[in-house]
Amino acid sequence: MPKPRAKLAKIGPTKSGAARTKTVLFDRVAFIGIGLIGASMALAMRRAGLARSIVGCARRPKTRKTALSLGVVDEATADYADAVTGADLVVIATPVGTNGMIAKAISAHLKPGAIVTDVGSVKQAVVDAVAPHIPKGVHFVPAHPIAGTEHSGPEAGFAELFDRRWTILTPLPRTSPKATAKIADMWRKMGANVANMQPEHHDMVLAITSHLPHLIAYTIVGTAADLGGDLKQEVIKYSASGFRDFTRIAASDPIMWRDIFLNNRDAVLEILQRFTEDLTAMQRVIRKADAKALEESFTRTRAIRCGIIEAKQA
Ligand code: NAP
Repeated sequence: MPKPRAKLAKIGPTKSGAARTKTVLFDRVAFIGIGLIGASMALAMRRAGLARSIVGCARRPKTRKTALSLGVVDEATADYADAVTGADLVVIATPVGTNGMIAKAISAHLKPGAIVTDVGSVKQAVVDAVAPHIPKGVHFVPAHPIAGTEHSGPEAGFAELFDRRWTILTPLPRTSPKATAKIADMWRKMGANVANMQPEHHDMVLAITSHLPHLIAYTIVGTAADLGGDLKQEVIKYSASGFRDFTRIAASDPIMWRDIFLNNRDAVLEILQRFTEDLTAMQRVIRKADAKALEESFTRTRAIRCGIIEAKQA
């Protein structure tokens, strides 16, 4: 069958900053995992007209039914082989601990020339688990969109999730530059900024910007949960914005975060060691009632927040 050519169609300007020109990049896209990230990607692809048809794969009938009823996917299946057969793009969007098993299961059913990508919050472990199962003639472009919420499932997905957020690609030395460029193009058309990094560097950066903050939030909320009787009730009743913000982060999906910590252990432990030293230093400053040191430290950190706002990532 002749390959349909990329179709161009003009559309009006969008408030969200999405592309003005629609270009079909893929005939058939398969999502393994149609939760927050998979569903948001499918909706962002639809918004930009990047895919002719989208199939979703999830284990539970409820997930598949919701994704179909919300128009996230055109077809839904629980069968990995059915999902990826004939797909020219396969997106693995499940917790990172499952990615190796999924890559093994789909390997024999991938179409020659297809691109496999992922969205995992950890990159080196995913590369190690997935790359050995990618057959010759299929391209693997690992990716991580730095965007998310504490909500899960297809009902949590929305097309604007990636607008003006960064997506980091970690192509392997043997990844085809053409396939990497196509995935970068796809993310830009979905509203994202795109950067390339080495997988282990990505894991170190994310350990400090995302994994450690989640660990702190889970720990603080855990400490509050362990408080006894009245004190625990009062923490909930009078929770000031600081604690409230931590509870939002600590409400993130337990399976996804279990897998992130299990798969980025070295980087997290290194950053945790530095953080523990800094925390001990702050403990000393407070014990010595060193007002100047406290003020200096808090002024320095305020500048980081200003930098994030200036970079439009707040
Ligand atoms: P999610 O909302 O919990 O969705 C996970 C999806 O995967 C669900 O559709 C689930 O449906 C399906 N699933 C789970 N295990 C599966 C398996 N073995 N086979 C087939 N389907 C399976 O999770 P998410 O937030 O989208 O996260 C997905 C990935 O994105 C993770 O790797 C995470 O590290 C990464 N990520 C997350 C965020 C974030 O903020 N949430 C941000 C960036 C990247 P069933 O349970 O019905 O199978």
